[in-house]
Amino acid sequence: MTHTCHAEGCSKAVPPKYLMCGKHWAMLPLSQQREIWRHYRPGQEVDKRPSIDYLRVMKIAVDLVARAEGHQGSLL
Ligand SMILES: [Zn+2]
Repeated sequence: MTHTCHAEGCSKAVPPKYLMCGKHWAMLPLSQQREIWRHYRPGQEVDKRPSIDYLRVMKIAVDLVARAEGHQGSLL
């Protein structure tokens, strides 16, 4: 199964451990990138059990990118 970028409307294939493709990842503030890696647990992409915290920061990151690209986003 191919893992794709989590940014809205992006279907670029990326390795499972990466949340987004390089372009979308680069749109995140450094602090947000750090948050993602802080909550990332090696192997979570294999057992499909990311932590609640990871899912939380992931959702924020996806939303930030969506807003930066002019999508409506879903945070509020
Ligand atoms: Zn992307």
